[in-house]
Amino acid sequence: MDKFRDRRQEKLPQTELHDPYLKQRLSGPAKCPECGAFCQAGRWSWQAIPANGHIDDVKCPACRRIADQAPAGTVTLSGDFISTHQDEILSLVRNTEAREKSEHALERIMQCSSSPDGLVVTTTGVHLATRIGHALDAAYKGHTEYQYSDSDAHVRVNWLRN
Ligand SMILES: [Zn+2]
Repeated sequence: MDKFRDRRQEKLPQTELHDPYLKQRLSGPAKCPECGAFCQAGRWSWQAIPANGHIDDVKCPACRRIADQAPAGTVTLSGDFISTHQDEILSLVRNTEAREKSEHALERIMQCSSSPDGLVVTTTGVHLATRIGHALDAAYKGHTEYQYSDSDAHVRVNWLRN
């Protein structure tokens, strides 16, 4: 009983507990052969890869999500405003990605595509999807909704502006 209680009190971010892509445990440092991200002590970053020592080739969680087409975040943009401001909106989305990705290697855009209602942007991380929602809201107002899955491993952001 005590053990169970202790485990529940651990303050791990919910996403890392439930996200199957973040559960992978590596024995030592690793680099991703796809994107060049480097992993040390379980943390992926854009840090320069050390010249000495053994480094495993391991596909990072973001590249695995991209290969599996399994986004962690889905941002749906809808409303008449989008058709007249599409370029501006897409550059806001891309700038938000660039800022987030430079600090958090696993937060990336998977795909930006047109939909009958506007645009759909999928991301490899939940944080980037919520950041994009905040950026849209800050720049253009409109109406934003955030829906987290039960496990917090996936977020759906719906932004509407007519
Ligand atoms: Zn990678």
